[in-house]
Amino acid sequence: MRVREAAMTLNRTGNPYYLLTPGPLSTSRATKQAMLRDWGSWDADFRAITARVGRRLIELADGGDDYICVPMQGSGSFAVEAAIGTLLPRDGRLLVPVNGAYCRRIVESCRYMGRAVTALDGPEDRVPDLAALEQALRQDAAITHVAAVHCETTSGIRNPLEAIAALAAAHGRGLIVDAISSFGALPVAARALRADAITISANKCIEGVPGIGFVLCRRAALERAAGNAHSLCLDLHAQGTYLEKTGQFRYTPPTHVMAAFDAALDQHAREGGTAARGARYAENCRVLVDGMRALGFRTLLDDSVQSPIIVTFHSPADTRYRFDAFYEELKRRGFVIYPGKVTVADTFRIGCIGQVGPAEMRELVAAVAASLAALGVADGRPALAA
Ligand SMILES: *Cc1c(COP(=O)(O)O)cnc(C)c1O
Repeated sequence: MRVREAAMTLNRTGNPYYLLTPGPLSTSRATKQAMLRDWGSWDADFRAITARVGRRLIELADGGDDYICVPMQGSGSFAVEAAIGTLLPRDGRLLVPVNGAYCRRIVESCRYMGRAVTALDGPEDRVPDLAALEQALRQDAAITHVAAVHCETTSGIRNPLEAIAALAAAHGRGLIVDAISSFGALPVAARALRADAITISANKCIEGVPGIGFVLCRRAALERAAGNAHSLCLDLHAQGTYLEKTGQFRYTPPTHVMAAFDAALDQHAREGGTAARGARYAENCRVLVDGMRALGFRTLLDDSVQSPIIVTFHSPADTRYRFDAFYEELKRRGFVIYPGKVTVADTFRIGCIGQVGPAEMRELVAAVAASLAALGVADGRPALAA
């Protein structure tokens, strides 16, 4: 009965619980309300939304006239796969420093598409070895591009994007950036990075709903990429060319998702842009980490490499702890979290992004304490700290 009542109570985002799962993540009521009408995909009203969204993303990335924003229907991985499949020549080779599942997905995408790829494997709780990256660039002239994941959401680690970009540029290689979990909260400067492509997804730090991704492409790189794509639907050159000519997507766009994203961009600007959004998330992260540490939990990552996007915690050593039961207890208290994804330790993850602030993070920490008590778990101390 009490569970039922709790589930019926809506929070300020109009939802029975907050999603601390990036993403999808918690969206504002205004963003959800933006979807309560219909648009014709060819109509000027919708074309205006598409054009405005593109302009704003290029502005946020400081891309200027050098960049074009190409939308891609689907989740973020569709945008990443489109970027690789379009910008990497068929006889190119992609170098990927790997420290998590999203880096591994890039490697897997290359294998599916039949593109040569070199994976530089490293531990998931460390940033990539830049010396090894430089050595690979020196030794293998066949490498045409480097792929960098800005924030590896697997662990929450913030990779040294600027340093990786500088190495790629110094060695005359192209750069494809997966900024999907960081864009809108951490600075990503397309021109300064000299990136060929930056991939973005609607349902991360801009706080839109899922269903579309975007690739900010350097015009010169996209122009050279005609004929590279292995896939009709994922051809960014064709999508970009058609968009410039007609203002439209080639195939049915997710109209409601675009309208919600446009509304989310309004709110992002009103909040104070990337700096303000990043500051809110950083405060969320600080409240979360401090509160969890006070309960005995330990973070996987060192604070120096922790992003303000998502935090990985070691599971408690107490034998009464089970993730599934902990998850249900938290959900009953209004918060949905993520299971762990790293392979190096038994963990769970809590996101800091979405329509939540420090007040909700404090509520979450209290809910964690109550959930541990309900399970009879003494505290959050993991085995290694016992
Ligand atoms: C979310 C995310 C993606 C895309 O994942 P989808 O499940 O396709 O949305 C890609 N890279 C990173 C770093 C991400 O966090």
